[in-house]
Amino acid sequence: MGTEKRTYISSGKAKDIYENSNDTLIFEFTDRVTAFDGKKKSEYHDKGKITCEIAEYWFKVLENNGIPTHYIECPTPTSMIVKKLDIVPVEVIWRNYVAGSLLRRYEAGDIVLPEGAEPKEGSPIPGGMIEFTTKFEAVDRPVNTDEIISKEWLNEEEIKYLTDLTKRINQIISQELADSDIILADFKVEYGRTSNGEIILADEVGTPDGCRFWNKDDFEKGVITSLDKDVFRKDSGDLTLTYRKLYNNLKKTNM
Ligand code: ADP
Ligand code: UDP
Repeated sequence: MGTEKRTYISSGKAKDIYENSNDTLIFEFTDRVTAFDGKKKSEYHDKGKITCEIAEYWFKVLENNGIPTHYIECPTPTSMIVKKLDIVPVEVIWRNYVAGSLLRRYEAGDIVLPEGAEPKEGSPIPGGMIEFTTKFEAVDRPVNTDEIISKEWLNEEEIKYLTDLTKRINQIISQELADSDIILADFKVEYGRTSNGEIILADEVGTPDGCRFWNKDDFEKGVITSLDKDVFRKDSGDLTLTYRKLYNNLKKTNM
């Protein structure tokens, strides 16, 4: 399956999207990176290639573990052919540790933390937790399951199905990382509907754009060393070097 017939459709924040056939798309992973709802932007050499290779790796691992995904193949190091889906208008976040917006919302007095979690970056969340945010609004905002059901974005049964699938994805990735020097702190996934109504994993998964990965040795010494987009959000390191370090670490133990 080649990329020669492709027709440009649109550009997201990190990927360009092309139509490949009636029922498949091509994602071109670019070097673009954004944070804070697109307010902070930059480009980093090789970012697209590293991210595409990491996403491809995790899609294969998940498929091998029975998770249905849209992944078909990567015809070049920066492109991925996927099944075209009707994207579910909800982003799904899984958290194993306190970080990012969870801590900010707690500090703003908007939420209580799950039982057993401390209000400190890196505090473990016993059993993990799931959250949902909007997907197609100007700014992503947390949504509860009542709103998701009342807006008919998902029904109760589908929420349960996606919760179980996301929990399983967390287990598979965490298990795969068990022998590496990396902790999966949290991640975001998207799902979409196929033409026959099946809901499957979409977008990208397991990449440093959509996950928080921490160095395990440092974490055990009480220091959080990010191997993900937090280095860009916080201006705490070079993104390409950080993504390459994650990639090399994954390759060494897993790929
Ligand atoms: P964003 O600007 O939303 O961060 P990206 O730059 O990652 O997006 O571009 C990918 C876009 O393609 C996203 O809007 C995502 O929801 C959408 N998408 C992901 N997988 C599929 C799919 N299989 N079919 C249709 N659209 C998809
Ligand atoms: N995330 C993402 N896209 C989004 C929002 C979050 O990929 O639009 C990821 C983010 O990289 C992190 C996890 O989901 O791994 C949880 O993000 P959080 O809600 O803490 O928001 P952040 O502070 O990262 O914006």
